[in-house]
Amino acid sequence: MSLPLVAGELTPISALVWRVLAPNPSLMTGPGTNSYLLAYKDGLMVLDPGPNHPQHIEAILQASQQLERPITHILVTHTHQDHSPGAQGLLQHFPNAQLMGTTAPNDGLQDEAWLPDVVLEDGMRMDLSHGHTLTVISSPGHVDNHLCFLLEEEGILFTGDHLIDGSTVVIAPPSGSMSAYLHSLTKLQDYQIAFIAPGHGNLIQQPQTYIQRTIEHRLKREDKVKSVLTADLGQSLEEIVKQAYDDTPAMLHALAQYSLWAHLIKLQEDAVAYEDDHKKWWLCSQ
Ligand SMILES: [Zn+2]
Repeated sequence: MSLPLVAGELTPISALVWRVLAPNPSLMTGPGTNSYLLAYKDGLMVLDPGPNHPQHIEAILQASQQLERPITHILVTHTHQDHSPGAQGLLQHFPNAQLMGTTAPNDGLQDEAWLPDVVLEDGMRMDLSHGHTLTVISSPGHVDNHLCFLLEEEGILFTGDHLIDGSTVVIAPPSGSMSAYLHSLTKLQDYQIAFIAPGHGNLIQQPQTYIQRTIEHRLKREDKVKSVLTADLGQSLEEIVKQAYDDTPAMLHALAQYSLWAHLIKLQEDAVAYEDDHKKWWLCSQ
C-alpha cells in the first residue's frame, strides 16, 4: 500500500488514522515530516505535529474541520525540530489540547519550547475510540527520549525517526546511542505489527523483515568500522569515515560522522576500540 506523499493533503491510513505531510523536504527529512491524526473519542490526537510551519499548521487545522473532530491531544515521538515545534502553532487554536511525550534532552538540538503535560513512559496504554488502544514503546537510540506508538488492534506502529522509509537515520551522540538503538530495534521484534507508519516517507510493509534488515545493516557497518581500525595507528573520525562509508557519497560524510561516532562509542563499550586524548580511535590489541 503506497499512498502518494503530497504536502498538505489529508490521507487516510485506516478507518481511524490519517496522515498530513509537512512541506519541509530536505536531505534530513526526505519528502518531509509525516504528522498522523488519530481518532480519540470525539476528538483528534495529533502524533508528531511536525515543524511550526504556517502552511502545515493550516493543513492540520483544515483536516480537523474536515473530520469534524477538535484537536484534544498532541503526542510526539521525540523533540527534534522537525517533529514537535508545530505543537505551539496548534495550541494557539486548541489551547486546551494536552501535550504528551517526554522532556527534551539538553544537547542544543532539541525543541526547547516543548513541555509535556503528561510524561509518557514505556508500556503506558491509552484508550482511543472503538475499543482501540495506543501503547507507548520507549525506543531510545536515534535520541534518548524517543518513543514509538503501537495502535494495537490495527497493528500500526508509529516510529518517528526510529525507523524511516528508504534510508537509515542519523544517530548523533551524546543523546543518540548505537547500543540503545540496536536494543530498541530488537525489542520491536516482540510486537505484532502489521505495518510501520514512519516519521518520514511512505508506509513500510513487512515490518519484521524491515526491522531485521535494519539491525543487520547496522551490524554490517559496525564490522566495517572495526575492519578499518588498527592497533598500530590511531585515526580521526574524518579519516575513518572515508573508508568505513566508502559506499556513501562523500558529500554525506560529514553527516555520516555522527553515526560513525555512535558506532565507535559502542565498540568502546564492547571493549573492542578506544579513543585517545587526541580524539584518535584505535583497535584494542588482543
Ligand atoms: Zn529526529
